[in-house]
Amino acid sequence: MGVLSHLQPERVFYYFEEICKIPHGSYHTDAISDYCMDFARDRGLRARQDESGNVIIWKEASPGYENGETVILQGHLDMVCVKEDGCPLDLEKDGLHLVVCKDELFADGTSLGGDDGIAVAYALAILEDDAILHPALEVVLTVNEEVGMLGATALDASDLKGRVLLNLDSEDEGIFLTGCAGGATVSCKIPVKWTKEEGIRYRISIENLTGGHSGAEIHKGRANANVLMGRLLYTLTDEMNMWIASLAGGEKDNAIARFCHAEVAVAEAQAEAFERCVEKMAAAIKREYALREPEACIYAEKMGRGSAQVLQPVSASRVILALVHMPDGVQKMEEALKGEVRTSLNLGQIALSEECFTFVSSVRSSLASEKTWLLEKLQSLAMLLGGECVVSGEYPAWEYRPDSRIRELIVRVYEEQTGKKAKICSIHAGLECGILADKLPGLDCVSYGPQMQAIHTTGETLSISSVQRTWELTLGVLAAIK
Ligand SMILES: [Zn+2]
Repeated sequence: MGVLSHLQPERVFYYFEEICKIPHGSYHTDAISDYCMDFARDRGLRARQDESGNVIIWKEASPGYENGETVILQGHLDMVCVKEDGCPLDLEKDGLHLVVCKDELFADGTSLGGDDGIAVAYALAILEDDAILHPALEVVLTVNEEVGMLGATALDASDLKGRVLLNLDSEDEGIFLTGCAGGATVSCKIPVKWTKEEGIRYRISIENLTGGHSGAEIHKGRANANVLMGRLLYTLTDEMNMWIASLAGGEKDNAIARFCHAEVAVAEAQAEAFERCVEKMAAAIKREYALREPEACIYAEKMGRGSAQVLQPVSASRVILALVHMPDGVQKMEEALKGEVRTSLNLGQIALSEECFTFVSSVRSSLASEKTWLLEKLQSLAMLLGGECVVSGEYPAWEYRPDSRIRELIVRVYEEQTGKKAKICSIHAGLECGILADKLPGLDCVSYGPQMQAIHTTGETLSISSVQRTWELTLGVLAAIK
């Protein structure tokens, strides 16, 4: 008996639980990709797996549906793996510990991967069931969506016939997405040099920030631990002799950094002043973020006296200047759509190695020209500091289509089934629809999905009743494409 075997729709939750047993964080999707291929083979369905691990599975139309337009069902195989401090699971080896609490499904101590495991579960449950009515189906399951939509970018779509696409990678029930931002990952590197210094060694920690998705939650005014660390280091080095021995923060370019740590050495005579300064700044920052970051912890721990490998002064000031002057957060709001972000970026990850300081941002905009300008700005900042930028995972925006039959159909079925008014939106996050629309001329698509909260965090939850309603909606739409 599985943890989810009493839930409805039974087969959707069966496959979701199977998927959760297979570790499938981004870049670790071979096993889940093979699982989907085995699934297709066992059921005699035509399928192919490409070099990246993307899987396409075909199923013929139900009797009477041969003239309906071919529909592409699409989702991604990878998930964002994050875990709570102290969680013993190894997310590259262990399955998740699923917990059901009332209408919520979550994973104990980790993210759940409802984004986007639920899409895979829906697709497999539809493919296996010959009683479900549908036109010809092409199920496209991509890898590495969460790290720059690498799978969709690499996908050869030339054997896809469908020009109607249901993307199951959204997490607000009742909201149907019909456009998204384009973006890129920018990795800047500044070379550094090291020396040795004596002093009192401290570890500075910024922890327990709220974090969140760098697209969906960038406008919520949350603190970014990497940015705060830049501010702390700037003021500290401005006021005393302090040297940087290590520096690392954040987990992913597309997650708002929840923590950052630095090891420093301070001239012995200034140790007390250092401690006072950290305390004062911590209090000031906590006051600034009293509502947004109530759990924030900012502190320094003494690690004892000693000598340490530290950055040479010129390198240290370059690192600090990079953090201080790197733009972060919302850059521009949409002019026509109230409350929607148009251009933003997130300083998601920083790291200091023997050779260089690396800082990685996820850049987004629904306007290609603003995205380009922001990329140029980052390039110029890196250049100014003697370094360079590498842009990767660039993806196009998905522009709103005034005439969309699939949008009209799904809105009609949704409103009939629920009695509620559907909402049509564009989002400030990347969706694979943009890339696929680029590859499949004339593509008509909509993105939707069951209700989830706090995706990409350890607080991620999936609404069980919403999975059921979204299942009915999907079956209703497929049944209507005759
Ligand atoms: Zn997703």
